[in-house]
Amino acid sequence: MTYELNVAHLYGDLMNTYGDVGNILALNYYAEQMDVKLNVSIVSLKDPFDASKFDLAFFGGGQDYEQVIVSKDIQNKKQSLTAFIEDDGPVLAICGGYQLLGHYYVGADGEKIPGIGALDHYTLAQDNNRFIGDIVIENQEFDEQYHGFENHQGRTFLGKDEKPLGVVLSGKGNNGEDKTEGAIYKNVYCSYFHGPILTRNGNIAKRLLVAALQRKYPEQDFSKLASMPIPATF
Ligand code: GLN
Repeated sequence: MTYELNVAHLYGDLMNTYGDVGNILALNYYAEQMDVKLNVSIVSLKDPFDASKFDLAFFGGGQDYEQVIVSKDIQNKKQSLTAFIEDDGPVLAICGGYQLLGHYYVGADGEKIPGIGALDHYTLAQDNNRFIGDIVIENQEFDEQYHGFENHQGRTFLGKDEKPLGVVLSGKGNNGEDKTEGAIYKNVYCSYFHGPILTRNGNIAKRLLVAALQRKYPEQDFSKLASMPIPATF
């Protein structure tokens, strides 16, 4: 392989609802087609996140129980994760991971679980309800539609400098009110989609990998890869 990318799977042993680890398999599948070798390491409780060692990070979803545990530990990684994000490091964060990159998440029992505030959203609880079901969204800027399955209690509201990943065509999305789903900030892509998201929406995998390659190998031009057609599903 010509290129190599180091991937941090944040709390991969704790945050992995609905097979979110499949996103790592999908990243591998697309990376191979791009002549890229991925080295994936789990960065979990008590492990430092060394921003200089990683080219891409993935943070999956979780149940409230695991989120409380992760919420405490991730405060020790707040500075390095924020620095990575501000330095245009590519990140994919799903559901519980998405919530913890924001300011806080109010769990089903009303407990306010702190995030790291690297992104400006916050997540409220809802009364005795979850948003569960298939969801389709559209990103007009990229002219792409994404398909997934959502299952979340939290209702997320986007903040400053965040754009939604897409506009909800069917389903609930971030909060069931404003028709937004997910978030984009710099090279960070957040979503409530399980499925896992990358297995059904290869263009997002491609965008993350191209961003990581361009950042790691600035002297190379990856625009050809960026325009490579990708199968919608596999
Ligand atoms: N526990 C969070 C919620 O219910 C996240 C769920 C998830 O990651 N699937 O909103």
